[in-house]
Amino acid sequence: MSAITNHMPTSELQALDAAHHMHPFTQGSGLAAKGARVITRAKGVWLTDSEGNEILDGMAGLWCVNIGYGRDELAEVAARQMKELPYYNTFFQTTHVPAIALAQKIAELAPGDLNNVFFAGSGSEANDTNIRMVRTYWEEKGKPEKTVIISRWNAYHGSSMGSGSLGGMVGMHAQGGMPIPGIHHIGQPNWWAEGGDMSPEDFGLMRAQELEAAIKELGENKVAAFIAEPIQGAGGVIVPPATYWPEIQRICDKYEILLIADEVICGFGRTGNWFGSQTVDIRPDIMTIAKGLSSGYQPIGGSVVSDEVASVIAGTEFNHGYTYSGHPVASAVALENLRILEEEKIVDQVRDVTGPYLKGKWEALADHPLVGEAKIVGMMASIALTPDKASRAPFAADAGTAGFICRERCFANNLVMRHVGDRMIISPPLVISETEIDTLIERARTALSETLDSLEEKGLMVKPS
Ligand SMILES: *Cc1c(COP(=O)(O)O)cnc(C)c1O
Repeated sequence: MSAITNHMPTSELQALDAAHHMHPFTQGSGLAAKGARVITRAKGVWLTDSEGNEILDGMAGLWCVNIGYGRDELAEVAARQMKELPYYNTFFQTTHVPAIALAQKIAELAPGDLNNVFFAGSGSEANDTNIRMVRTYWEEKGKPEKTVIISRWNAYHGSSMGSGSLGGMVGMHAQGGMPIPGIHHIGQPNWWAEGGDMSPEDFGLMRAQELEAAIKELGENKVAAFIAEPIQGAGGVIVPPATYWPEIQRICDKYEILLIADEVICGFGRTGNWFGSQTVDIRPDIMTIAKGLSSGYQPIGGSVVSDEVASVIAGTEFNHGYTYSGHPVASAVALENLRILEEEKIVDQVRDVTGPYLKGKWEALADHPLVGEAKIVGMMASIALTPDKASRAPFAADAGTAGFICRERCFANNLVMRHVGDRMIISPPLVISETEIDTLIERARTALSETLDSLEEKGLMVKPS
C-alpha cells in the first residue's frame, strides 16, 4: 500500500489528463496541446515530477503547505481518525472530539475575543458563510437593511458565487453572472500600479478613505461589513502602505460595520505572526481561515467569530452548514498541523530567523535591471517587473506578457514562482531553510536574467517616451 510511484509514462498521463480532467483557472485546449506537468511526490520544500525533476516549490502548493511536504505525523493521525470515526456530522445536535479539540485550539491561538469557529471545507465556503452570517447578525440586531458588504477590486476571496463576488477579480466577474447583488467594491492599496505621483503614505490613506466615502454614499444603515485580506495574496502580494490599515480600523470603529479579515493566506504563520491581523494590527470581528490551517493536507476552512457576533447568531437557528463542516479527519489533521507549527516554533522561526534572512535577499533583487519594487512580509513576497523603474512603467505589451515569460523561465530552472500580471510572487513553505532560500534566490536571479534577455530580444525593454 503506497502512493502511485509505478505510474505510466508522462506522455500517456498527459494525454489522459487532457482527455478527462478539467483544470481550474486554465484554458483547457492550450494546456492539452502543451501537456500538464505531472507532480508525483514531495518532501519538505521539494516537488518531484514524473520525469524525476526536483523542483523548489516557492508557492507552498497554493499558499498552503506551511509545514512543508511529507510530514508522516499528519498521515498517521488521518489513518487513526479514519479507523476510529471517519465521518459524522455536526448538524443535528451532535458533535465529535476532533471538531471540539480543533475549535478550542483555534480559539486559543486567535487574537482578542475571536473564540468561536464555524467550520467549512474551504476558504470559498467560509466566505460564503460570512456573507450569510453578517447579514443574519444584523437581522437579529433589528437592522435587516444592513446587507451590503464592501470589498476591494483585485481582492481574492474564493471562487464560489458568493466568495467570487466578494472578490474583486474582473476576469472572474465577467463569467457566470457575478457579482451577486449587495457587494460593493472600492480601490485597492496598490501603490506601485495605481499610486501615480502620490507618496505611498498619502495613497494608502486615500484608498482607506474610499471606505468612508462608500459608507456615506451607500448609507451607514445599509452596510453590514467590510472584508479584506490583511495583505492581498492572489492579487499579487500587495503590501499596503503603513497608513492604510490604521485608517481602515478607525473607519470600521466609527461606523457600525463589521470587519472581516480574510486570513486564508495570511493565517497560521505566513506573515511572521499567527495571523496577519496581528501583523497589521487590526481587530476583526470575523476571520476567514483555510489553507495553512491544515497545511493543505486536508481540505478544511472556517470562520473565526467574535464572542459578540457569535452570541447574536446563537440566538437564532442559523440555517446554514456543509456536510463536511468540522469533518473529523480534516479536523484531526489540522490539529496535528497546529501542534507541529507551535511545538517546532515555526512561526517564531519565520518572524525572527528565516523571514528576516529571506527579506534581505529578496529586497536585494530590486538591484536587478528588470525589477522595480521588491516587497515582503514574513514569507509572502513579490517583485514588480518593469522596463523603467523610475516611472514604474508597464511594458508595451499585454499585462502579464513579461510575467508569463518569467514564470516559464523559473519552471525551466526548477523553481515554482507564480506571476500575477507582471508581478512575480512567492509564498514558500514556512520551514524553508537558509540554504534553500539561497537556492530559491539563485534560481530566481537566473530566471530574471533569462527573462530580461528574452524581453530585450522582443524589443520590450523600452522606456516610455
Ligand atoms: C485561496 C483563498 C480563498 C479561497 O480558498 P479556497 O480554499 O480555494 O476556497 C479565500 N481567500 C483568500 C485570501 C485566498 O487566498
